[in-house]
Amino acid sequence: MKNAIIIGSGLGGLSTALRLSKKGYKVTILEKHSTAGGRLNILEMDGFRFDMGPSFMSMTYELDELFESIGLKTPVELEELDPLYQVFFEGKDKPRLIWKDLKKLEKEFADVEPDLAAKADRYLTRAGQFFHDTEDKVVRANFENKLEYILKLSSVPLKHLPYLFKTIWGEVEKNFKSEEVRIIFSLVAFFLGATPFKTPAIYSLLNYTEMRHNGYWKVKGGMYRLVEEILKILKEWNVEIVYNTEIVGVNNSNGRLTELVDQNGKTWTAELFISNSDAAAFRGKVLKRNKFNEEKLDKMHWTLAPFTIYLGVKGKVDRLNHHNYFLGSNFRGYADTIFTSSINPQKPYFYVNVLSKSDSTCAPEGCENIYILCPVPDLRYKKDWSDKEELANNIISDLSKRVNFNIEKNIITKKILAPDDWSKMLNLYKGSGLGLAHDINQVGAFRPKNKDEEFSNLYYVGASTTPGTGLPMVIISSKLVTERIENEFGSI
Ligand SMILES: Cc1cc2nc3c(=O)[nH]c(=O)nc-3n(C[C@H](O)[C@H](O)[C@H](O)COP(=O)(O)OP(=O)(O)OC[C@H]3O[C@@H](n4cnc5c(N)ncnc54)[C@H](O)[C@@H]3O)c2cc1C
Repeated sequence: MKNAIIIGSGLGGLSTALRLSKKGYKVTILEKHSTAGGRLNILEMDGFRFDMGPSFMSMTYELDELFESIGLKTPVELEELDPLYQVFFEGKDKPRLIWKDLKKLEKEFADVEPDLAAKADRYLTRAGQFFHDTEDKVVRANFENKLEYILKLSSVPLKHLPYLFKTIWGEVEKNFKSEEVRIIFSLVAFFLGATPFKTPAIYSLLNYTEMRHNGYWKVKGGMYRLVEEILKILKEWNVEIVYNTEIVGVNNSNGRLTELVDQNGKTWTAELFISNSDAAAFRGKVLKRNKFNEEKLDKMHWTLAPFTIYLGVKGKVDRLNHHNYFLGSNFRGYADTIFTSSINPQKPYFYVNVLSKSDSTCAPEGCENIYILCPVPDLRYKKDWSDKEELANNIISDLSKRVNFNIEKNIITKKILAPDDWSKMLNLYKGSGLGLAHDINQVGAFRPKNKDEEFSNLYYVGASTTPGTGLPMVIISSKLVTERIENEFGSI
């Protein structure tokens, strides 16, 4: 039986552990943090339970594929979001509900965008064609080199070429007349950790995945239930997870990795190694590769950093749904400047998740658990977050006004995680929330590869290698790396 060590227990690492274990590898996971799940984690405080990072997912058939591949059924119950979310525009009392059903959506925006159903249908059909023309060729594929990738790309129908030269904003501007509808359709760029003014139009395919294809889903009982169920299976299959163990160096011989070295100098050996630590930063910081030194990493395009607030609140906040967005005015000015600035945004845009709306077990009776996520500049631009209380208070006070409920006065418990906390906790490079961005020159064969350039027995899985970030993508990443390992190492 071959031994494999996985560095990191994010969803990418855990999914790879399931797949390799099923194939007969003896798997050990080494995790820096004290709990498993990486960004897909949990916070428990004073009787409140919060999803720490992800709060919903798309493309849930990838989850089903993962469990089918190991001979099991998806062990969690998924609930579709309907409406997908609600959006509060500044200065408008009534939030807009975002429906998958285009007739309902048209009704919601009847005052500002006539014929929305037909327009959205056209827009989504176009995005859907792109999605299906590229999903298998580009997203679900391993590439040996750039030439192979470019040849694959050249088989994508030419009609999609204009997508490459436009931004998401350009695409929504072309299709919709009202500023509000344009903003709503461009919000998907933020799910990629970027702004619509800098994100290529190809990612309008995310509108298709959210509004037509598979929609958005949450896990009943909270997203962390997924990690808990995976941990149960791994335990049954004798996969050991060693916590509070950070890999800081390696030893090698004859082009192979022989040992990992942890923060206490302890060494760990195996025949096969898979890093679920950030694929770019690990090459630079742990393997000391010049191509990924700090200066070069800093020049790469990283996704926005998360500023998160977790509030246990007494009372029920009626105006909040499960998923809510709060937007300010001056969308473009905000998106263009705030993320490369060193000062706190005065009128931040933020997302609010309230798990207690659908799960009564995650908060004491009569209480609400409120999770706020605000995209902010990463540590390259704003290093000092000692003013995090000030930004949090600013957001909480804005939220209180907009939902007409005094949240400040009713806080029972509170925790804030600024980009420096996220970075320290999970080794997120400079606090970037979703890892490397998805610019054309950072995807496919241009993204850090899932196979190491020098060590023949070192592989990568997760958000900063192929295909990209988000829960379904890291599950696909685990499939791709397992296929590569199987081809190169042989099955057992
Ligand atoms: C605030 C936030 C909200 C999000 N919301 C959503 C959402 O709603 N839907 C969605 O689909 N996606 C969402 N995402 C993105 C999603 O969480 C990630 O794409 C995904 O979880 C990444 O998984 P991963 O396995 O690649 O990495 P991670 O989850 O980062 O796991 C990597 C693990 O490796 C460990 N590690 C790192 N370095 C070392 C080392 N040297 N030694 C040992 N261990 C190490 C880390 O501690 C961590 O546990 C969100 C992300 C954030 C931050």
